[in-house]
Amino acid sequence: MGCYCKGKTFADFKFSMDIIYFPSNTKEVIDAIRRAIGRPVVFQIIASGVPCSTCGVNPVTNTALDPFCPVCSGEGYIYEYDYVTVSGHITWGYSDLPNWITGGQYFTGDCTIQVEYTEDLMSRLKNVKYVYVDGKTMRMRKIITRGVPVINRILIDLMQED
Ligand SMILES: [Zn+2]
Repeated sequence: MGCYCKGKTFADFKFSMDIIYFPSNTKEVIDAIRRAIGRPVVFQIIASGVPCSTCGVNPVTNTALDPFCPVCSGEGYIYEYDYVTVSGHITWGYSDLPNWITGGQYFTGDCTIQVEYTEDLMSRLKNVKYVYVDGKTMRMRKIITRGVPVINRILIDLMQED
């Protein structure tokens, strides 16, 4: 028995106080891993929208006047889309949660993708309709940015569209 500290000097404790920089926090390493094992992720982004000329938009509810309109599929708007393809580190399901989640983030979706952070992509995420991953159509559920000291990646939690 005895105090763990007994007989120890300050130097003995210095090691445990050092800040440990995990290699996984560096952009170069993360980018290299993504290049090696990444797969294409396609974002379908709403570029523009005009009210459907067949039915039109209810100005109060901002929904289609005809929910069964064959032209706009009941959306009220005719959208034009941009398709942006990036390389993503893709993880399906719970079984193989990647190391970079050990920070405590809990994902509840069907799939998590990690892509490079760019201001352009970040600014367009709010207009994303679907994300296509491994041939599946996904909806975005949650967006988290990561990186120390500067943000270098985006984690996106996806749910499969049914
Ligand atoms: Zn319509």
